[in-house]
This record gives sequence, C-alpha cells and structure tokens, in this order.
Amino acid sequence: MPFHIETPTITSRAWGKGSLDAAVLKLDALQPTGSFKLRGVGAWFEHAIANGARRVICPSGGNAGFAAAYCGWRSGVAVTIVVPRTTSEEVRRAIEGAGAEVIVFGAAFDEADLHAQALARQNDWAYLHPFDDPLLWRGHSTLIDEVLANGDAFDCVVTSVGGGGLLIGILEGLERHDLRNIPVIAVETEGAASLHSSLRANERVTLDRIDTVATSLGAKRIAESAFQRARDANVLCVTVSDNQAIAACLKLANTARILVEPACGASLAALDVHCEKFAGCRRPLVEVCGGIGVTIEKLLRWHGASAGAQSRPDFPGAQ
Ligand SMILES: *Cc1c(COP(=O)(O)O)cnc(C)c1O
Repeated sequence: MPFHIETPTITSRAWGKGSLDAAVLKLDALQPTGSFKLRGVGAWFEHAIANGARRVICPSGGNAGFAAAYCGWRSGVAVTIVVPRTTSEEVRRAIEGAGAEVIVFGAAFDEADLHAQALARQNDWAYLHPFDDPLLWRGHSTLIDEVLANGDAFDCVVTSVGGGGLLIGILEGLERHDLRNIPVIAVETEGAASLHSSLRANERVTLDRIDTVATSLGAKRIAESAFQRARDANVLCVTVSDNQAIAACLKLANTARILVEPACGASLAALDVHCEKFAGCRRPLVEVCGGIGVTIEKLLRWHGASAGAQSRPDFPGAQ
C-alpha cells in the first residue's frame, strides 16, 4: 500500500489571461502530509523497508522531513530529521508530533545535509536525500499517471522547482506516457533561482545565498539530473517575485479555499504573471505542490509586508 493518496484535480477559470482557457489544478496540497513530497518519500520508504532499514535520517527544510516522519510513524521505522535553523518552530513541532527526532543544524539546507550525511555514516542509518534520488523521482511521477487516468486534458505542465526532484518526476511521468512534446514551465522565485541561473550560465551554478519567502525552493544548487533534463527537454524556466508568489497563495485561498506555501504559490503566480509565455497552451496542468510551512496568520503577515513595501500596479491579488 502506498503512503500517498490519489489527489483530485479541479478545473478553474480563476487563473491566467490571454490564450488560457482554464487551469487544471492537481491538488497535492491535500496529501496527508500537505505536500507532493509524500509521493517520492513514500516510494523511497517502501524500498528502504523492503531492504531492512531500521532507522532513516533525512535533511530537510520541512516538507520532505514531515513526509518521512509520517512514513516512519506508519511503518514503525525510526526517523531522524535534520532541519536548518531557518525551519520554523511550527514545522519542527509538526515533525516531532509525527514521532520523528528533530535535530536543528546549520544556517541553510546544505549544512543540515552535510551533518545528516555524517550521522548516517557514523551510525549506519539509511540516508534519504530530499530531492536527488531516482526512487523519489519515480514516486513523484505518479502524479502524472493519476491525471491521465482521470482523463483530464492538458497541453502544458507548470511546476515549482527547488532542487528539481519534482521537475524530474514530472518529466519522467510524461515520458512514460509518450508525452515528451508537452512543454513544462519550471517556476522559481527570484531569490532561489538555481535552475534559471544554471541554464543562463550553461553550467550548474551554486547560488551564494537564498533570499526568498519560498523557503521550500531554497536549494543553492539544482540536482545535476534536473539541470541536464531541463537543458535537453521541452522546459521553459521562469521566475516570479516573492510578492507575486504570496499574492497567488492568497488568491488560491480565496478562490479554492486551500492554503499553500509561497513555494507553491510561485507556480500559480506564473499563470498570471507570465501568461505571454503560455502562447499555444490553453489548458495548463498546475502541480499544486502544497507545503506545511504556512498558516493563515503567516500568509497575512507576508502579504501585509509585501503590500507595505511598495504599491504594485501589477500585483495579481489586487483586483
Ligand atoms: C520540496 C518542495 C518544492 C520543490 O521540490 P524540489 O523537488 O526540491 O524541486 C516545492 N514546493 C514545495 C511545497 C515543496 O515541499
């Protein structure tokens, strides 16, 4: 039995302008752990359990860790999550509440990751990387299987990109169904544009720092495989501002009554902000990837801060 659930899609006319007819929203925010991560992490756990894993360690900003904690609870495998100091108190508590041990280490994901790798080696624990693992990609790819099995028509896919695991999963899913020609629009926020910068430089670059409210997109370096695939495949990379991502979260909350992180809002924002890039597409499939690092209060605070910072005539939440 997989750990994740099949999620519904809804077709919404609230998003995009121009040639877009309607957006097909794949609601992975409704996974039991609040994000798509459970697809890949669950697939990884099934494999690890079959291979006798007794304890798992995973470095994570939050959502992969929460998914791992959930799988550990469901399967009786002990789980340790190493989070960086940037991970909020609420998210740490959620992970502990699911029964995992939480270690806080480092200023950002990369440092937490090195610590997790060291602990895994010392103790001989199974190590789960939150985005760079073929088992994870395979798990993420099931979202495409579900949308196709459901009969939802789409002519492009929009997804957020952090380390690139979700993007690879989507590309794998499309390939499996001979849909290589479907364009994929990969969205990052400006302060976490590791794929965008790498495609520009034509080599994988490491960002000096992460500067975005969309913390789940905060990988300084895109996975090698995501970079290679984005270079070769039909992938268009765009960026949105934090304010645009936040406005899209509010708009989703108000139109679909679903709360998601700015990491997910970024994808939805692209429909409104970059509609000219969707030329030829009428029905984008948007992966509503979710995330637990958000509360109503936080969203309103971010929104207040962004509205106060400057008034933006193109602010998509402002109509
Ligand atoms: C992990 C995550 C992402 C980015 O996924 P990658 O596989 O790292 O690219 C985007 N949104 C949310 C909510 C996430 O948890």
